[in-house]
Amino acid sequence: MGFELPEIIKISKQMEDNLIYKKILDITLTENSKSIIKQGMSNLDKRKNEIIDSKITSVYPKGKWIFLEFENKNILMLGEIIGRFSYLINGESLPPKYHFLFKLDDGSNLIFQSSLYAFLVVANPEEKKLHRYAGNIGPSPNETEFTREYFLDLISQNIKKPIKAVLNLQDQISGIGNVYINDILFEAKIHPKTKVLDLTNDEINKLYDSIIMIIKNSIELGGSTDECDLYGNTGHYKRLVDKNTAYCERCKSKINKENILGSSSYYCPNCQKLI
Ligand SMILES: [Zn+2]
Repeated sequence: MGFELPEIIKISKQMEDNLIYKKILDITLTENSKSIIKQGMSNLDKRKNEIIDSKITSVYPKGKWIFLEFENKNILMLGEIIGRFSYLINGESLPPKYHFLFKLDDGSNLIFQSSLYAFLVVANPEEKKLHRYAGNIGPSPNETEFTREYFLDLISQNIKKPIKAVLNLQDQISGIGNVYINDILFEAKIHPKTKVLDLTNDEINKLYDSIIMIIKNSIELGGSTDECDLYGNTGHYKRLVDKNTAYCERCKSKINKENILGSSSYYCPNCQKLI
C-alpha cells in the first residue's frame, strides 16, 4: 500500500486544480499527527508559519513525491505517502479522525489521514536539494529520460543486487515501490530475489517493457483500485498480484507471499522461478 507514481500523478493534478493560487490560512496538527512528528517525518509543528499566508504558485509530482511551491519560495514536500488526502469544499464536514488539516483562504480544507506514515516537510529550495529523499529523485518510467538505454545502464551498475532492491532505488528509477514492483516482476516472470547478474538479456528487456507498460496503464486508469484520490474515488488499475490473489492467472499455481527486503512480495513460484 502507499502512493506510487500513478496515484501521485493523479493526486498532484487534483491538488493543482484545487489549490493553485490559494493561500493556506492555518494548519491544524491533531493529537494523531504526533507519531509522524515523532518519527521525524514532518516539521509542520515547528515550521508551518513559513508556508502560511503565502500563495501556492505551483504543484507538481516527481517520483513518489508531490511538491507545493509558495510565492515566498518555500516548499511543502509530501512524499512516501501511506494514507489519504481529501479535499473538502466549504461546508463539507470533517471526518472524525485525521492527522493534518490545511485551511484554505476560500473556506475549503485539505486533510491528511495517515494509515502508517508520510513525509510532510516544509523546506526552502536549498533544503529541498539537500533532502535525503526529496532531493535525490531519479527519472520516472513515464519520463522521456527513462529510455531502454538508461535502464540497461542502471542495471549494469547494480549487478550484485537482487532485482527487487534495484527497482526500489528512488534516486535511479523513481515512483515505483513494492506494490507495482510485485506486478512488474509478475508480468516479466522474474523472481524478486533474482540477482541482476543472473538475468538474461531477454529478461532485462522484458523487464523494461513491463515497467513501461504497467506504469503507463495504471496512469491512464487513474491509479490503483485500492487507493483513494482527493474526492474519495479509487482508480481503475487492478493489481495483478497482491494479498487478495490466491492463484496465478497464467498457470493456476498458488501465489506465494514472502517478506523480501522488508516488504511483502507476492509471486508465482512456477512462473517466477529463482534461478
Ligand atoms: Zn504462474
